[in-house]
Amino acid sequence: MNVTLMLRLPIYLDYNATTPVDPRVMEAMLPYFTEHFGNAASRSHGYGWKAEEAVDTARRQVAELIGAAAKEIVFTSGATESDNLAIKGVAEMYRSNGNHIITCRTEHKAVLDTCKALQQRGWEVTYLSPDAQGLVSAEQVEEAITENTILITIMAANNETGVLHPIGEIGRVAKRRGVLFHTDATQAAGKVPLNAEEMGVDLLSLSAHKIYGPKGIGALYVRRRDPRVRLAAQMHGGGHERNMRSGTLNVPGTVGFGEACRLAVGEMDSEPARLRELRDRLENGVFQRVEFVKRNGHPTRRLCNTSNLSFAYVEGEAIMLKMKSLAVSSGSACTSASLEPSYVLRAMGLPDDLGHSSLRFSLGRFTTQADVDYAVERIAAAIADLRDMSPLYESARETGETRDIEWASAK
Ligand SMILES: *Cc1c(COP(=O)(O)O)cnc(C)c1O
Repeated sequence: MNVTLMLRLPIYLDYNATTPVDPRVMEAMLPYFTEHFGNAASRSHGYGWKAEEAVDTARRQVAELIGAAAKEIVFTSGATESDNLAIKGVAEMYRSNGNHIITCRTEHKAVLDTCKALQQRGWEVTYLSPDAQGLVSAEQVEEAITENTILITIMAANNETGVLHPIGEIGRVAKRRGVLFHTDATQAAGKVPLNAEEMGVDLLSLSAHKIYGPKGIGALYVRRRDPRVRLAAQMHGGGHERNMRSGTLNVPGTVGFGEACRLAVGEMDSEPARLRELRDRLENGVFQRVEFVKRNGHPTRRLCNTSNLSFAYVEGEAIMLKMKSLAVSSGSACTSASLEPSYVLRAMGLPDDLGHSSLRFSLGRFTTQADVDYAVERIAAAIADLRDMSPLYESARETGETRDIEWASAK
């Protein structure tokens, strides 16, 4: 039987961009649109109490995923808002202590553009460069600290390469030097164990739609002791979320987010290992069939589900057009319209031609082995087709590839 008949096409390999809502999550949310529609801030009747109870449960479930206390969770509209609230909130609240922020060139735009906006308003920002494998070290962070530093913001896992930064080590540096530490853990959540306490993190951003919850809801963890972190609100109004984020809570959203976190905790022992196996199967399959492929990012210190590959002599956009039965991403989703090579890969020192040749494959809960095997076939066929028409590839084969690049090979 033709295996492609059993596949749902195009095959979704873009889980780092967003994930489908898990049916169990949707089930949990549904009553809160209709029957239990109350405003969680209504204290005077049962409709409000029912909603508040659901939000409390969700808050505990989100907290559990990151080893925090429920009271330390502030619900937001997503990780973009969480990043903005953390960075601007600290910058404004602690302005009298200093005006210097440390971050990294490979952060998500939600962090980078927030830092740029603060620079316009007089704050100073140091953008650390990662090494060729995409890593920043705790030593690099420590060297950048000055007497004016009030915040370090370094992501836990990179969305394009999956590279995992040494968050625990950076947290220890931050503690020792008395600087607040924010991490965007949107991609790490549900894929690696997270414990805000153990990692020495003071602020941590999450988004539901990257972990099989609904879009439009996220959270910011805000440490309550040692130290108690204070934030300048970015949204003023009814004083919801301990005055840090006013606005009527998205009750069904919080319920879905909570359930998504509960499921992620439950699957932490098995799902990352399953994904790693599938991801390695994808990479080995590609490396066996295709030459001149470069794997971007640290080979082991990265997420279990992510593979970022450059296919020399062909353009990422052209590859995607050749394999329309695969849903993948080239560059970063937010900048791919501009046809600039990915700023993340550029910051890692990847030459622009290889940046243009890169694709990100990100696997998830509903990815099967059949999906991966089909994807390998499509990728190999697309690259072969395109290279057949490439004079550069022709001459590289004839002369032997001479560039100083470590091409990937199958294990
Ligand atoms: C997706 C993502 C964001 C943005 O999250 P939204 O909830 O869509 O605003 C921020 N940071 C990282 C690392 C992401 O992957």
